[in-house]
Amino acid sequence: MLVRIQPRAHMISLSTPVEELPKIGTAYAKKLKKFGIKTIQDLLFYFPARYDDFSEIIKVRDIRQKLGQTVCVQGRIADIESSHTFKKWMDLTEALVEDDSGQTKAIWFNQPYLAKSFKEDDFISLAGKVSLGKEGLYLASPAYERINEIGENEELTHTGRIVPVYSETRGVTSRWLRYVIKPLLYRFSEQIQESLPEEIVKKYKFLPIQEAVWQLHFPESFEAADAAKARFSFEELFLIQLNVLKEKARLMLKKAPACPMDANLMKNFTDSLPFKLTDSQRKCAFQILKDLEKTVPMSRLLEGDVGSGKTVVATMAALSTVKNGHQVAFMAPTEILAKQHFKTVTQLLKNFDVKIGLMTGKDARITHAGLVSDTSPACVISKKSFLGDLENGQLDIAIGTHSLIQKNVEFKDLALVVVDEQHRFGVEQRDHLIKDKKLVPHLLSMTATPIPRTLALTVYGDLDLSLIDEMPKDRKKIKTIIVPPSQRKEAYDFIEKEVKEGKGVFVICPKIESKKTIATSDVAMTGSFVPQNYPASLASLATMEVKAVKDEYERLSSKIFPDLRITMLHGKMKPAEKEKIMIDFRNGEIDILVSTSVVEVGVDVPRATIMMIEGAERFGLSQLHQFRGRVGRSDLQSYCFLFTTSPDQLDRKRLKALVESNNGFELAQKDLEIRGPGSLYGTQQWGLPDMAMQGLSNIFLVEKTRTAAKEILEKDPELKNYPQLQERLKNFQKRIHFE
Ligand code: ADP
Ligand code: MG
Repeated sequence: MLVRIQPRAHMISLSTPVEELPKIGTAYAKKLKKFGIKTIQDLLFYFPARYDDFSEIIKVRDIRQKLGQTVCVQGRIADIESSHTFKKWMDLTEALVEDDSGQTKAIWFNQPYLAKSFKEDDFISLAGKVSLGKEGLYLASPAYERINEIGENEELTHTGRIVPVYSETRGVTSRWLRYVIKPLLYRFSEQIQESLPEEIVKKYKFLPIQEAVWQLHFPESFEAADAAKARFSFEELFLIQLNVLKEKARLMLKKAPACPMDANLMKNFTDSLPFKLTDSQRKCAFQILKDLEKTVPMSRLLEGDVGSGKTVVATMAALSTVKNGHQVAFMAPTEILAKQHFKTVTQLLKNFDVKIGLMTGKDARITHAGLVSDTSPACVISKKSFLGDLENGQLDIAIGTHSLIQKNVEFKDLALVVVDEQHRFGVEQRDHLIKDKKLVPHLLSMTATPIPRTLALTVYGDLDLSLIDEMPKDRKKIKTIIVPPSQRKEAYDFIEKEVKEGKGVFVICPKIESKKTIATSDVAMTGSFVPQNYPASLASLATMEVKAVKDEYERLSSKIFPDLRITMLHGKMKPAEKEKIMIDFRNGEIDILVSTSVVEVGVDVPRATIMMIEGAERFGLSQLHQFRGRVGRSDLQSYCFLFTTSPDQLDRKRLKALVESNNGFELAQKDLEIRGPGSLYGTQQWGLPDMAMQGLSNIFLVEKTRTAAKEILEKDPELKNYPQLQERLKNFQKRIHFE
């Protein structure tokens, strides 16, 4: 990455694989690979998750005032020995350590080798918790290291300083990482080349990269660690900015078919609706229609809460495009949703002589000006003729999943792509859709996921935003209730009563949390959870979620509601199976649907009035809000029950926010404040490093990086004069995958 080409292959450099280091070898190299560490350089860029502050070294005598606290002392070993306690089945190592103020004891469990590696009269530096035993105060399992002398200004690694604590897996401890990383820093840090442009390092007074890497691992002070962090946060966000701005610039060189707006047509359309558009819908539709008039390809994100009416707005854009003689592709994340859109769009455009097609895995359908209903067998056509119609331009709007952009699908004249709940749709994908490589279609992306400003200016920085920020009138507010364990029975009774009245109930099973890596210091095992660095395999999570659904299903159908019709739904089912279940649920043949959080809940089931969420505290507020949006889609009063057993104050506070607010944006902002950017839906999958994630909650930093990226690109759009930066950017693009 940042490495000079080495003349001789056997020379060890930053790019040398870690297994070539004698201290590491193949066994450890394998473990490190789990952290994504392959080379020496990777290891040097594996930063600590937090620090232990052992920087104050006190006199032995003074530990008396420090019961329960962690302290650092240094002294001569007066005695050290190991014994085996058969009662507790473990090894006990005890050392008596003294300085000129007194003596104290240190006790370790199951580390018998300590008695061999240290002997009487050795000097030792200790950092551990002051505990009280039968025979007085002692240090419990303190971190330790050998020193030459007491009070000398020796360089320390594990004690007597600010000590780095890394995210660990089994077999790789923070102590081991420190032991390996420190000598490597001495040997190789000077080879690390500056990756930020010099003028930026100067302008923002950043620590140079070599210094910053040192300070992150072994900081002189917390200020120094923060300064180093700030530099890398900046760098990560700066790369995001370069990435999106370059992408945008690339798109600006392309042309899209212009679609002038026909004001009369639009008026006819809105007049044909059974409702009046909200002002927000009107404003957004206008922004979109104006974009479509240009030859610059539109890249717009239409944001609006669940139920705010995005589909109508998208349909207006589609209509305008079609009446300009072009085609539209409308992509949904799942087949069920694609079918729902097909139905809706067919209905909305029934007076407008538009030919609309649906392609699913199984078959293809076409409706035309409302002549046949979207479910009638008469509208089924072969896939072959569907594809033919697309190619010769017979078909105006094609609705489907991602199968719509497969290789064998060709549009005659595609001018607009509408993407529902996908956010991202890269320039490359857009390129792919039109044969004429100079043209790309306009893009309208729709999402109900609220996007805070910091994300809008980074990850989504290449998209223009339109916001539907009001709900259609005459919606009943959904009643949201936190249900503690003591009121579970009451909630079940209520559910039973509603079901007897013909209403439908969703049950969402607790989210299985991805495996967290634990940062423990080697002191007293007071590990705390840190945000995960690497997402656990999504496949294994899915398997666990399926199990959770099965368990819940068993419980509800055998114990709680033996008389009700209960069905489960999870991501491992075949699409056809899932679809049948959703339709049965919609038609009232299922009372309670038990589902995982990953399953497509986007389907409209107007008769569903209860959303019951187990383990509610495990979800982000935005996601809970999305679940809640699945009910309340008719004029019936709907309810959202949040089941929780968590006594945690923060959890309560979050869930209360959901009870109080019905505004997705407010909730996303709260999530961001309370839980950080990792809580935002989708962010876990992006593969962003922690440094970038932390930066994403800092609007000042975000704005700074945006300005800096713009300045550099203005001067040098291809980054020709910044080879290091190009290299970093290339690696960055490989690593991240925004959705
Ligand atoms: P979403 O933004 O979640 O995709 P939809 O487009 O599915 O929302 O709209 C939800 C429901 O609200 C649909 O049944 C739609 O017909 C209806 N709707 C849309 N706009 C309005 C409006 N201005 N007034 C009343 N109902 C509306
Ligand atoms: Mg929608």
